[in-house]
Amino acid sequence: MNVFKFGGASVKDAASVRNICSIVKNYDQPLVIVISAMGKTTNAIEEVIRLAKTDKDQAIEAWNEVCHRHKRVSAELHATKESLKYLDEYQMEGRDIIMHYSQDNADEFYDQLICRGELMSTTIVTAYFLSESMSAKWIDARKIIKTDERFRSANIQWRETELSTKQMIDTHAPNHKYLITQGFIASTRDGRTTSLGREGSDYTAAIISYCIDAEKMSIWKDVPGVLTGDPRIFPDASLVTKLSYREAIEMTYYGAQVIHPKTIQPIQRKEIPLHVKSFVDPTSIGTLINNEGDMLYPPMTVVTKNQYLLHFSTKDFSFIAERHLSMLFRKFNHYRVRVNLMRNTAISFTVCVSAEADRLALLKEDLMYEFGIEQQDQMELITIRHYTMHAIDRLKEGREVLFEELQGNTFQMVLKSKEA
Ligand code: ADP
Ligand code: ASP
Ligand code: MG
Repeated sequence: MNVFKFGGASVKDAASVRNICSIVKNYDQPLVIVISAMGKTTNAIEEVIRLAKTDKDQAIEAWNEVCHRHKRVSAELHATKESLKYLDEYQMEGRDIIMHYSQDNADEFYDQLICRGELMSTTIVTAYFLSESMSAKWIDARKIIKTDERFRSANIQWRETELSTKQMIDTHAPNHKYLITQGFIASTRDGRTTSLGREGSDYTAAIISYCIDAEKMSIWKDVPGVLTGDPRIFPDASLVTKLSYREAIEMTYYGAQVIHPKTIQPIQRKEIPLHVKSFVDPTSIGTLINNEGDMLYPPMTVVTKNQYLLHFSTKDFSFIAERHLSMLFRKFNHYRVRVNLMRNTAISFTVCVSAEADRLALLKEDLMYEFGIEQQDQMELITIRHYTMHAIDRLKEGREVLFEELQGNTFQMVLKSKEA
């Protein structure tokens, strides 16, 4: 079996749903199709969640708008009564969840509501496939992808997930050519909804590919494949047609948004090729990622915004020692602060991190008695793999570099964001 993944941009409206339908019709083999929430739905639901904390009426109004948008797309695709019934159910359950919002279990609440983006998009796509006489079956990802209870960024329970995914395939694949399921969402052993972290749908596709020993996995994007940089920042970026797993995992680790960072590991372990394809131009060649050896790559640049620089110093002028570092890393893990670059001197420790602002504030509060802490906001981390001096100079362009590091073929620097 092959696994296809369609992201938000590829299902953003009725025309897009028709487009993905015509893409899959060109393939003979049976498919598991993993789908994200439509367009920017997840952002819109995050806004509902933000409102639910302060004003439930406003939150419900915003929630209704999200649901109506789905019903409009569904109507444009000549929805069946059955699919509208499901959309109604998701809407009503969502309202109920908002009414019962409590700060005590904010992360679990987030997952209960956020999952509805993917539940609604897959309901719409499945109904459309069926109306096109395609043999499609809607699968609830929460029944197959099993995780721990770390809501909002849950960890996969591989054994259970493998068993339930295989079982799902054995049950439904003989009678259905297209098994349609949600990216990004999962559930605990006892059935409570979890999610895998923003942009996690690529990862879902990789988990399923791993569990069913897929022949190949394809992710369909709004770009021609993996480029030498984000085309929104580098309009002259060019296509890289082949990448090794190692190079792909490095690029995604440094934040190349085109593939979720956790995607490569499961498929690499089973040597499943990953094809990054364009849903805008489906016959173009795209990027093939597999276990072929490394080749000569052009400089590839990753820009990650919204970074913070944190400077920790000991209060009594003592050296930064192992006990300080281990305490800092325990706290980073606890508050979900991701460390992207670090350096220490005798009495100070500097890190470039990404984190949610409120979690970062809690981290600082927790550590303020132990360390002197300074924070710099609106930083940008630029990574160049296979750098050349020309590529570095071009990016520096007279800007102030706060921090830079060279390691093997990777150059990294932290700069004040241009927008700051
Ligand atoms: P999805 O629709 O699956 O969520 P994303 O929006 O997450 O897709 O990823 C596609 C986007 O990634 C592109 O629109 C592009 O702007 C961005 N991007 C960042 N880095 C790269 C890169 N190196 N190559 C191609 N696209 C990139
Ligand atoms: N819908 C989720 C998000 O926007 C997951 C995904 O699209 O990959 O983060
Ligand atoms: Mg996305």
